[in-house]
Amino acid sequence: MTDRASRLLQALSEGEGGIELMFVSSLVNVRYLTGFTGSNGAALIGPDRRVFLTDFRYVEQAASEVDSSFERHIIRTGFFEELPALLPDGALRLGFEDRHVTVYQHATLGEKLPSAVELVAAGMPVEALRAVKDAKEVQRIRAACELADAALREILEQGIAGRTETEIALALEDAMRHRGASAASFDTIVASGPHGALPHASPREVTIGDDQLVVIDWGAVLDGYCSDCTRTVASGEVGEQARIVYDLVLEAQLGGLEQVRPGVSGRDADAAARRIIDAAGHAEHFGHSLGHGVGLEVHEKPTLSGRSDDVLQDGNVVSCEPGVYVPGELGVRIEDLCVVTPSGREVLTEIPKELIVVG
Ligand code: ZN
Ligand code: ZN
Repeated sequence: MTDRASRLLQALSEGEGGIELMFVSSLVNVRYLTGFTGSNGAALIGPDRRVFLTDFRYVEQAASEVDSSFERHIIRTGFFEELPALLPDGALRLGFEDRHVTVYQHATLGEKLPSAVELVAAGMPVEALRAVKDAKEVQRIRAACELADAALREILEQGIAGRTETEIALALEDAMRHRGASAASFDTIVASGPHGALPHASPREVTIGDDQLVVIDWGAVLDGYCSDCTRTVASGEVGEQARIVYDLVLEAQLGGLEQVRPGVSGRDADAAARRIIDAAGHAEHFGHSLGHGVGLEVHEKPTLSGRSDDVLQDGNVVSCEPGVYVPGELGVRIEDLCVVTPSGREVLTEIPKELIVVG
């Protein structure tokens, strides 16, 4: 943890903002830097001063969780109201997370700060650190993937035809919780037949028929870290069009995975998978990006998309999830989560990818 705060300061000192002290108010970033897992916290980080702020509900939790390099400050009003009193005297450039601060909070801070303190929008420096996972983080994500895989296997063994999408989604979330997950990492998607053509479909009270493709996108949170995986399974004998689309998406997924390695840009990885789908005449049926980083949050840096300037590096954890969505007919998405290694990638999600037929 100490190391993370030091790395943040190092990154800020190399940046152009001249930031001397950084105020971190995004809760997930506070967790990353301090170890605190409660629901209200902030951190002030500088070369000579590290302060963790929370309210009275978390006095004991903070004492046991927060890295000992931080002194602890219990707030009575609000973080932005009390921050000025914690700053050293004199001129100072104070960085803040502009993506996570409201207009109201910014105004509050501006009113109370001494004129010698200059507020500097710092962008997303903690998110940039979070994009590269250490071995312990990878281990946690791997464990979340294993848990989620086991939960899906259990659900598929029970069969899916004749059950509703909602039932399957609930059973899957239940199976993850029973295995120790603190939550699902996002609302589970179970979408059968033509409904699968909606990439972010919500499960319905609709019974799954005998011969449909069913898109299942699910993930577990374990020790704070998320998993994310999609499989499209068949509830029986699906038609030729479904098999052709399935094989195409699988080919694109493998083509995309092949590009997940250090030095490849998010843009190029996306293009590699997209080229395969475009060539088969389905360009307009793959409207989302290829993948995203996963860690403490289910969507984080880096991004694999046509607009991404991110360049993959050892320690990134990213999804690879092309899909083909034919309106009114069917949808197929296949998603793996993988960690970028010095020589390529290691896939963390292990449910087989050839079309699984379940009754
Ligand atoms: Zn997913
Ligand atoms: Zn995803």
